[in-house]
Amino acid sequence: RLESYGFIGLGQMGYQMAKNLQAKLSPNDSIKLFDLNDTVSQRLVEEMRTSQAGGAAVELAVGLHDAAKDSDVVITVLPGPSQVKSVYRGISSVGLPKKDRLYIDCSTIDPSSSRSVATSIAEADQGQLVDAPMSGGVVGATNGTLTFMLGAPNDLVPRVEPILLRMGKRVLHCGAQGLGLSAKLANNYLLAINNIATAEAMNLGVRLGLDPKTLANVINVSTGRCWPSEVNNPVAGVVEGAPASRNYEGGFSVDLMLKDLNLAIVAAHQTNTQIHLGGRAKRVYELTNREDRKGKDFSVVYKFISSDK
Ligand code: NAD
Repeated sequence: RLESYGFIGLGQMGYQMAKNLQAKLSPNDSIKLFDLNDTVSQRLVEEMRTSQAGGAAVELAVGLHDAAKDSDVVITVLPGPSQVKSVYRGISSVGLPKKDRLYIDCSTIDPSSSRSVATSIAEADQGQLVDAPMSGGVVGATNGTLTFMLGAPNDLVPRVEPILLRMGKRVLHCGAQGLGLSAKLANNYLLAINNIATAEAMNLGVRLGLDPKTLANVINVSTGRCWPSEVNNPVAGVVEGAPASRNYEGGFSVDLMLKDLNLAIVAAHQTNTQIHLGGRAKRVYELTNREDRKGKDFSVVYKFISSDK
């Protein structure tokens, strides 16, 4: 059946996701694109129209309202809570026609902001918003191999899942609206700390005389094993292909890690949850994100930690 999509936020992630979605839809479907950056939206419309992949009919939306008004499904991929709130205010500012729209927000924001946006949409009779933050980075977005953490009522899951699977390979339903984001923030909180702990442990071992590869081999079959030790080891030469082995280029930037860590800290305060390491970890990333380390993969924390005090 014919479905109309609106896609808002065509940055590093959204651009690639929209491309995969459009290519996998049928020519009877349509997709309207919008980004604050006009050049980017125009480039993507051009790219889709000239692509051999076929897919849905493409249009450039003239504004937020236009991207949403006739759409059955609206997908947003925006930087943070303030942009998400302002985009959803913009969508509904001119009295959107009432409709059973499905809004899928893939941005990483805090669960309480997401819930408040979902409530305004439901109260205005405009449809339902689900949260579907993702992991897999720009590479996953480009290859269509993202994992989505979905927060949605059970009855919406069969409707949302096939849409997300056009842009990714896995959908993990975490519970009601907001809980996809809760899972994403808890996971990235752990990642933030595991990464620093791995860098400190590797540095300690090296200073005690160990070869870093020997130490990583021990850790990776022992109880300290974790994603930063095994896949994204912060010491150059330990894992071929890891950012550390190419001067920390590419990967997951310190800025994005700091953004997610801040969101987790806010969520912890809101729920009166004890977190002892979060504030300290934030300080370490802030100190890391300077000089020639700025903008690099977050494993560059090793370069900061291993420098002399
Ligand atoms: P990005 O900054 O590259 O893209 C955001 C886009 O939103 C930009 O093109 C910007 O112009 C647009 N935008 C901002 N405000 C807007 C508005 N008011 N109206 C319309 N468009 C607007 O960010 P990204 O890297 O694509 O990340 C998007 C989200 O995905 C973030 O929440 C991020 O944390 C999350 N995420 C990113 C990665 C990654 O590796 N980049 C991985 C997982 C999750």
